[in-house]
Amino acid sequence: ALMITDECINCDVCEPECPNDAISPGEEIYVIDPNLCTECVGHYDEPQCQQVCPVDCIPLDPERPETHDQLMEKYQRITSS
Ligand code: SF4
Ligand code: SF4
Repeated sequence: ALMITDECINCDVCEPECPNDAISPGEEIYVIDPNLCTECVGHYDEPQCQQVCPVDCIPLDPERPETHDQLMEKYQRITSS
């Protein structure tokens, strides 16, 4: 999963781009639900939020490394429920 750092300026550009509805406004900055973020696997070749963020504050979450297969399984779990 990806994560949003405290450099976020709350511009709301990323939220509507997420195909999994994983992004929402948090208490202080926007947040990504790691249970819903597939790094866009299953939908797009590139993480859509990263493409649009004007301040480039959406890196991979180092605490949640996932393989492509794991991300694909998450995608299938999300879309089948
Ligand atoms: Fe949503 Fe894709 Fe960004 Fe994950 S990488 S938060 S699935 S837009
Ligand atoms: Fe924050 Fe970047 Fe999303 Fe804007 S696009 S709300 S700066 S994470």
